[in-house]
Amino acid sequence: MNDEGGSSALALVEETAGPVKYEEPRELTIEEVEAQVAKIEALMQRVLKRDQHYGVIPGTGEKPTLLQPGAEKINLMFRIGPGKPEVEEVPLGGGHMDVKVTLPMLHLTTGKVLGYGFGSCSTMESKYRYRSASRKCPTCGKETIIKGKAEYGGGWLCFAKKGGCGAKFAEDDSAITGQVVGKIENPDIADVYNTVRKMAYKRAYVGGTIKVTAASDFFTQDLEDMHDNGGPEEERKAEPAPAPAKAKPAAKAADAELVAREKKAIESLRTNSPLAPQLVVDKAREAAQAASDDRKAAKITDEEYVKKLEAIAKAVSDEAQF
Ligand SMILES: [Zn+2]
Repeated sequence: MNDEGGSSALALVEETAGPVKYEEPRELTIEEVEAQVAKIEALMQRVLKRDQHYGVIPGTGEKPTLLQPGAEKINLMFRIGPGKPEVEEVPLGGGHMDVKVTLPMLHLTTGKVLGYGFGSCSTMESKYRYRSASRKCPTCGKETIIKGKAEYGGGWLCFAKKGGCGAKFAEDDSAITGQVVGKIENPDIADVYNTVRKMAYKRAYVGGTIKVTAASDFFTQDLEDMHDNGGPEEERKAEPAPAPAKAKPAAKAADAELVAREKKAIESLRTNSPLAPQLVVDKAREAAQAASDDRKAAKITDEEYVKKLEAIAKAVSDEAQF
């Protein structure tokens, strides 16, 4: 970076304050509020891209979920930036940790604190706490064992197309059948500390952005993780491939009632989450993520997924303090 770029960027900051004059302690005019809303709307239509800057829950009319890159664009537009975060790390025992981040959102031209974003994340959230263990090849050590097709003699096969060595094992080989598979506690929980810290910061950043720019007309932060791409790479790679969709053709599109129920549950979560204790919201987020994962992996039906979502929404609603 050269000096010239730095100083011209600074000049730009000086020149282009947003329509809202944060430095003035007076109330905003209707026109100023309209201008602020219109600006976010225009940014959304002309600049922000789906799945890059915001996520959408398919099949629902739900407000998009703001992602960090989208929040960065909104902040760029309004000349807002994060201040120094206050980070609290609470050990939970067993190597687990809860991270809470309080992030001041600053108006860059005046340095004024516009508000705070709060975010927390814990290694106890299911996507960090557990990993999915697949059968490991006793020969090459890779998790590439599949069930051999009956017409090729059955048994177990270290699948070359998945990067395995091609070794074959008998149906009852205890080196294969004796392995613990499925959802297991992550044996290397410390490996996700940094991910959890980053996630807590990200939640504070996105939440703070929505709050200080009044972008909640357009975006929600709730269930952010349902669209999140920030999970630990190795964990996602370890997930078993979704079962081939053979059982349920057309069922999805046909069931408008199910979609309506899902939408209602999400709306309820969105309304009640800000009013419920953080711990409850975190648990709900975790449960919703797990349900969403299970549905994606075809472990549960759409109906079961919606039922779970409804139960989660009810739990949050019960805990919401009005
Ligand atoms: Zn192998």
